[in-house]
Amino acid sequence: MLLIFDLDMTLVDVSSVDFEMILRHALEISGVDMPMQEEIKELWHSGSDHPSILERWGVKNILSFWKYFDEKDEETRKRLMDAGTITLFPDVVPALERLEQIEEMVLAIHSNTPKPLAKIELDRFELTKHFDFILALNDGDYNQLRAKPEPWGINHIIRKMQKRNLLSRKHPHREVAFIGDSEIDMIAASRAGIPGIQIIRGGVNPSVHATRIITTLNDLDYTLLQSIFHVKKHIRDHADC
Ligand SMILES: [Mg+2]
Repeated sequence: MLLIFDLDMTLVDVSSVDFEMILRHALEISGVDMPMQEEIKELWHSGSDHPSILERWGVKNILSFWKYFDEKDEETRKRLMDAGTITLFPDVVPALERLEQIEEMVLAIHSNTPKPLAKIELDRFELTKHFDFILALNDGDYNQLRAKPEPWGINHIIRKMQKRNLLSRKHPHREVAFIGDSEIDMIAASRAGIPGIQIIRGGVNPSVHATRIITTLNDLDYTLLQSIFHVKKHIRDHADC
């Protein structure tokens, strides 16, 4: 069984990050006015459509725009982590430790956050040791055009885990689920043909693309996974570990 987790607002609480401020900064340097709310939302959900949206706004150099965005994002998040306002959700480590008890469990992260920044968060909260594979933006072939809600990343992780013999080659999609907080996570899961488990953190609306809705990772237990996959796995006896 492979569970792929989103990072920000699923594992790490980045609600103190003002992404609109970061966007405003990147647009200002690019000499472009801030668009309307609806258009901003469109960009966050864009995936492979992002160049055409940014071009429509008047951004001439898309690569430079994302460079400005990422630099400001990194600077902001480092500052907020040092200030202790970016934190790990308290249910994360207990949930991961519980999931690790399930036989043949494989855990991965799939984040649209640039790799260097994702690594800073993963190191800060000592998360890396819990995961068999981590895919973040601008890592190898994973670029903005392939970002969630595109299913590329999910399929990429599945292929990688199959190569390592951690996932069956016959029907991998029957034993993979995505856990994320946002609409784009659920769309990516749906496009990849796997169940999407949406965790509602702080007022986000449930997605129509979600297979299940949970409000805490404590709900992500064997019974829930079993009901999604309809397979029987054995949980190792805690005492034997
Ligand atoms: Mg997220």
